[in-house]
Amino acid sequence: MRRIYLLGECMVELSQTSGGLLKQSYAGDAYNTAVYLKRMFSEVQVNFFTTVGEDQLSDNMVTSFESEQIGTDLVFRAKDKAPGLYMIDTDDDGERSFTYWRECSAARQAMQFVTAEVVGQLCMGDVFFFSGISLAVIEPNDREIFWLLMRKLKDTGVKIAFDPNYRARMWKDKTEAKIQFERAFRMADLVLPGIEDFTQLYGFDDLSSIKKFCGAHGIDELIIKNGAKSVYCMSEQQVQEIEISPVSGVVDTTSAGDSFNGGYMGARLQGLSIADSVAVGATVAGFVILHPGAIVPNQTFTKFNEQIIQPALLNMAETCQ
Ligand code: ADP
Repeated sequence: MRRIYLLGECMVELSQTSGGLLKQSYAGDAYNTAVYLKRMFSEVQVNFFTTVGEDQLSDNMVTSFESEQIGTDLVFRAKDKAPGLYMIDTDDDGERSFTYWRECSAARQAMQFVTAEVVGQLCMGDVFFFSGISLAVIEPNDREIFWLLMRKLKDTGVKIAFDPNYRARMWKDKTEAKIQFERAFRMADLVLPGIEDFTQLYGFDDLSSIKKFCGAHGIDELIIKNGAKSVYCMSEQQVQEIEISPVSGVVDTTSAGDSFNGGYMGARLQGLSIADSVAVGATVAGFVILHPGAIVPNQTFTKFNEQIIQPALLNMAETCQ
């Protein structure tokens, strides 16, 4: 069985319903990726690596991980800490704004739980995924532990996957983010950025500057997401730009990149080609953005999975043979 570990922070999400009530759910980039990956690729063992608190909210959060069949062996409990929280406000024009309470969240403590046993377990994975948000959440004093862990995993043969997901407010300044991203680019075998990551942090807004920048970092597999336009793929075997069919009726683009990553990595773990894996990632992302919130309700997603994704996967597997 193929196995992936994803490091990140899952937060409590509060959003307003049309009736003015608050709806509570759980979300966070690496967690969203884990959920979509597992929903489409049930045969892959998906494990989330994080820290929560010892409170009721944390218990409920872990129960929701379990209900998504996500492995919780590496979900640690920090005393006197609680999960981070964010609230989505929608103004009269439908514009969404986010307010976060995550400075002291439990997830910041994850590196404190890295023991020889944890390292041993992570070494048994095929892929280890983290994002720029996972990186920003780690306490700055613990970052060396994280990089030592990455080195060990890479030396053991675990593939390292990274999505920069740059969020300016999570970093002291651009220099701090660039230093950490530089290390991530050099460590990662698979990088899954969006164009905006480079525009905001490096000032690049065209594909050719981004390609040049990434080319200098020796990344084995580079998959650049460019919204509704295309996905640019570069690997040892080939370079290709795959067009995206834009969907109409987009409701909320939250989690587009995360669900793409889940589809892409799940498909690659099952041995599909880069082009087929992009097709899976783009199909799921195109569906997710037709629904509000980061995670599409399981019942709605199951229908889509059974009717669209699983037949497509079967077809791809048959064509491969
Ligand atoms: P991120 O969310 O990381 O910024 P993008 O905006 O590039 O990433 O979106 C991720 C993926 O979602 C794209 O690669 C594409 O497959 C899909 N996507 C985004 N917008 C659309 C759209 N309007 N129509 C169809 N697919 C889309």
